[in-house]
Amino acid sequence: MLALQTAFSHLITEVREEDFASLFNNHSHVRCPAGKTYFRIWNDGSVQGCPYIPTLNDCGNIKARRLEPRENMFRCSEAKYCDCYTIAMLGKMVFESPLQQ
Ligand code: SF4
Repeated sequence: MLALQTAFSHLITEVREEDFASLFNNHSHVRCPAGKTYFRIWNDGSVQGCPYIPTLNDCGNIKARRLEPRENMFRCSEAKYCDCYTIAMLGKMVFESPLQQ
């Protein structure tokens, strides 16, 4: 990681090292807008809801004028990546099922 930071230091404006997963520690599931109202769109036009969940990996291709958004939020038990944290920080994640302590 340090080598990457050194090689591309001219491109880096911010380095974040938070424990992204901790936000989700007390929840068995979240309802996530990935694939419904949150997408990654790549240079080749391909659209992903979430690259980590196979069923959300292919939402179409905007260059082919094909977009297949989900009707409902995705109930996810895998929340632990930086996109999840970003979505949660935007206030677009619905937390459910707090675990019993
Ligand atoms: S891994 Fe994160 S971004 Fe992907 S569907 Fe689950 S909560 Fe959403």
